[in-house]
Amino acid sequence: MYIVQIASECAPVIKAGGLGDVVYGLSRELETRGHCIELILPMYDCMRYDHIWGIHDAYRDLWVPWYGGAIHCSVYCGWVHGRLCFFIEPHSADNFFHRGCYYGCKDDNMRFAFFSKAAMEFLLRSNKRPDVIHCHDWQTGLVPVLLYEIYQYNGMGTQRVCYTIHNFKHQGIAGAEVLWATGLNREDYYFHYDRLQDNFNPFALNMMKGGIVYSNAITTVSPHHAWEARYTPIGYGLGHTLHLHQHKFTGILNGIDYDVWNPTSDRYLPFHYSSDDLEGKAKNKTALRKRLMLRDSEKPIVCYIGRLDDQKGVHLVHHAIYYALHRECQFVLLGSATEPGIHSHFAHERYILNNNPDCHLELGFNEELSHLIYAGADMIVVPSNYEPCGLTQMIGLRYGTVPIVRGVGGLINTVFDRDYDENHLPEERNGYVFYQTDYNALESAMDRAIGLYYEYPEEFRQLVVQGMACDYSWNHPGEDYVEVYDHIRYK
Ligand code: ADP
Repeated sequence: MYIVQIASECAPVIKAGGLGDVVYGLSRELETRGHCIELILPMYDCMRYDHIWGIHDAYRDLWVPWYGGAIHCSVYCGWVHGRLCFFIEPHSADNFFHRGCYYGCKDDNMRFAFFSKAAMEFLLRSNKRPDVIHCHDWQTGLVPVLLYEIYQYNGMGTQRVCYTIHNFKHQGIAGAEVLWATGLNREDYYFHYDRLQDNFNPFALNMMKGGIVYSNAITTVSPHHAWEARYTPIGYGLGHTLHLHQHKFTGILNGIDYDVWNPTSDRYLPFHYSSDDLEGKAKNKTALRKRLMLRDSEKPIVCYIGRLDDQKGVHLVHHAIYYALHRECQFVLLGSATEPGIHSHFAHERYILNNNPDCHLELGFNEELSHLIYAGADMIVVPSNYEPCGLTQMIGLRYGTVPIVRGVGGLINTVFDRDYDENHLPEERNGYVFYQTDYNALESAMDRAIGLYYEYPEEFRQLVVQGMACDYSWNHPGEDYVEVYDHIRYK
C-alpha cells in the first residue's frame, strides 16, 4: 500500500511530544511491513536539521491557493532516519513556520490550515496518489475536508483518509476566515452541526470535528481513551460527534520504537543492559547521579519525564517530589512547561530544592538526558489527569523502570497493578496504579512501590523483569493500522 502521512511533527526532527514519536514509529513499522510511506511536514526554522539526511529541492514552484491569490512554496525532500519526508516552506510575509517554535502562536489556526491546504496541493501537483492519507490531530483536520470537498473533483477521487486524534483538548477552534483562505468558502454550508460547526459555539468552526466528520476512519491512541472520549468529558465536547460516527471510530494503542528505545543498544547510554543482566542499569544510575550531582546512596530514584501541563496532573507531580524525598528516595524531574504560571511554579521549586543532594529538577526539553533518566531511575510516576495513551510509562517499562500511574486512558491499557489487578496473572503485572486525584491515592501507590524496593528487593527486581518483558513495540499497532487502511482503501 502507498501511504502518505501528513502531520505537524515527526521525531526526532520535529518533536514537541508523543505525536512526533508516533508519526515516526508508525511510519517505520509500516515500511518494514513492505508498504511505501512518505511524510509531509511543515519546514519549521527551529526543527533539528541535523537529523535530516540528503535534503534537496523536490518541488520548486508550488503555488498554494490562499484567499483570492496564491502563496509560493518550495518543497524540500530528505530522509529522517530512513523515512522519506517532504517539507513545505511557504514564502510569504506571514512567515508561517519561521517562528522559532512549533506551536503557541496567535495564528496557529491559519498556520496549520495553510499547511493542510499546501499538503493537498502538493499531492495534487506532484501527481502523488496514495491509497491512504493518514493525518493527525487538529492541525491536519482540514485535510479530509479539503479532499472530499475540493480535491476529489480534481483527480483525487480514490484517496481515503485515516485520521488519528492524539489529544481531544486542542481542536483548532477557528472563524470563517479559515474557509475563505483555503477556498472552502460556503460559510452557510460548513457552519452546520453535521459539518464543521463547533458543538458549543455556533459561531465557530472546529477543525478536529471536520476531521472526524469527513474521514473514512478515525482512531485515537488507546482503546480505553476511545471509550473515554465518547462517554466522559475527556472528549471535550466531541462525544456526540464521535457517537454519530461510531462505525468508523476505534482505539489503537500506540507503540514505541523498539530500535530508538532499546537499553541494549541506546546510543545515549553509557552502559547497555537487558533483563538478563541488569548490572548496566545500576551503572547508569550511578552515571545519572554523577551527571545531575546527586549524592551516591542506596536510595531508589523516582523520576518524572514529560510536559508540565494541567493534563499531566502537575499538582500530583509536585506532591510526588516531596513524598519521594520524605520516603527516603531521590527524585529527578525532566519537564517543560508552556504555561508561564506552571513554569514559574516549578522554577520556584527548583530554587528551593537547589541544595538538596537527593533531588534534581531539570526544566526544559532534553532528549538525550531523558534516555539516561529512563535507564537510571527505578520508578517513574505518571499521575496524569487524563492520558490518551502515554509513552513515558511504556518507555519506562522497556528500561526496567517501574511505572506508578493513574488509571486513565492508555495508562490503564498498559500498566497492570502488581497487587490488585484481577484481569492479569501475577506474572503479567508490571507496575502500580491508583485512581483518584488526591494525594492519598498517589501516596498509597508510591508507598507500595517504595516498600517493595526496600523490603523485598528480589520481588522488586522480578517486577522490573516482568515489565521489560512486555511488548509495547509497533508490531501489534502496526498490524491494526494496516487492517484499518485495508478496510477503507478504494478497491
Ligand atoms: P505527550 O504526547 O502528551 O506529551 P507522551 O507520554 O505521549 O506525552 O509522550 C511524551 C514523549 O515526549 C516521550 O517520548 C517523552 O520521553 C518525551 N518528553 C516529554 N517531555 C520531555 C522533556 N522535557 N525532555 C525530553 N523528552 C521529553
